[in-house]
Amino acid sequence: MLAVSEARRRVLEAFTPLEPTEVLVRDALRLVAAETLRAPHALPRFANSAMDGYALRGADAAEASETTPVTLEVTGEIRAGDPGDLEVAAGTAVRIMTGAPLPPGADAVAPIEIAQEDGGRVTILAPTPSGRHVRPAGDDLGEGEVLVEAGQELGPGELALLASMGMSPLRVRGAPKVAVLVTGDELVAPEATPGAGQIRDSNSIALTALVKEAGGEVIPAGPVADTYEATEEAFRRAAELSDLVMSSGGVAVGRYDFVKDVISNLGRIDLWRVAMQPGKPVVLGAIGDKPFLGLPGNPVSIHVGFEQFVRPAIRKLRGCANLLRPRIEATLTESITKPVGRLHFVRVRLGLEGSVFHATPTGPQGSHIQSSLINCHGVALFERDESRLEAGATVTVEVWRLPEEP
Ligand code: AMP
Ligand code: MG
Repeated sequence: MLAVSEARRRVLEAFTPLEPTEVLVRDALRLVAAETLRAPHALPRFANSAMDGYALRGADAAEASETTPVTLEVTGEIRAGDPGDLEVAAGTAVRIMTGAPLPPGADAVAPIEIAQEDGGRVTILAPTPSGRHVRPAGDDLGEGEVLVEAGQELGPGELALLASMGMSPLRVRGAPKVAVLVTGDELVAPEATPGAGQIRDSNSIALTALVKEAGGEVIPAGPVADTYEATEEAFRRAAELSDLVMSSGGVAVGRYDFVKDVISNLGRIDLWRVAMQPGKPVVLGAIGDKPFLGLPGNPVSIHVGFEQFVRPAIRKLRGCANLLRPRIEATLTESITKPVGRLHFVRVRLGLEGSVFHATPTGPQGSHIQSSLINCHGVALFERDESRLEAGATVTVEVWRLPEEP
């Protein structure tokens, strides 16, 4: 059976980033830069005041103090947004507001707190040498400096900087369209009352949320009945509407598991079964030219399988430079055992004690145990050839989210 790392390598090989599009910076949250973006000009563009106060010549007021105050003639006022072309001559000052351009001649600002204005004159009571409280042009970034690397996801900080630079519209990669198909005759909507033997379809809810979190756009498709014809029809349609088709259920070896047959007939299967627990019967394939990822139906399997294969694939489509979740080392708080042969993804809660992470399994780990996903921060990797990990052992944890401060 294929190792998870090898399976993921093959999955990622099967995906290529989407074509870039142009969007306004205001619409680019969580989109991914399609090219390296460089500063078209310096930031700030012009020297400006960091304080409300008086623009002056540092040579006049460098030595000012309460005992040796310096008095200057106030010749005008510059507000934020003014062009700021008032010349400041020796012995004079101009009232200036935060963000207003530093006028020619001035090279320092005395804040209001150390200045007293009276009758057209201002007295400066503390040293105000050249450069004091001035934000020089280019203080933040010089022209040509890299703002954002290709492949970086744009967050509020990046968007604000790009907006300051006038970089709108931007070349980004958008959200891939992900068709989410769930299979199973037993499924009813969460709002319905299940009949005897039926269960509520929770995988649609989980997968929709996971796709959105991963930066994809969900193309929903209701539950697909366990017949060859229904499965073929639903998968064919899904491929027409999406960049990636994914499904839950129907990939095992049961009499009513049709996904593999349908995919082989509509396209091809490149990989089936990975040495992992939960989630062994993963399918990588294609429907025509659309990539396909099939996960088993168990509610925990889809979650783990999504994290291992689908999320990285979505990130590759989005053009992300980094595809995988971060990994940390943590101290296991209780002993765990398993048979050798497959990599187990043990759902854990993380806690921070001093600077050391502790990982505690979330309880029973069966692939149908949905409660194991509650308050789960990630998975501890219990390697293929290991069968026992002692309390106190150091484990690698793939982090899905970090706990908040209590
Ligand atoms: P399968 O992989 O189709 O054999 O399904 C494995 C298990 O997952 C069965 O117990 C199914 O009832 C359950 N299951 C399949 N699809 C869903 C779903 N959409 N929501 C909740 N459970 C599901
Ligand atoms: Mg099924």
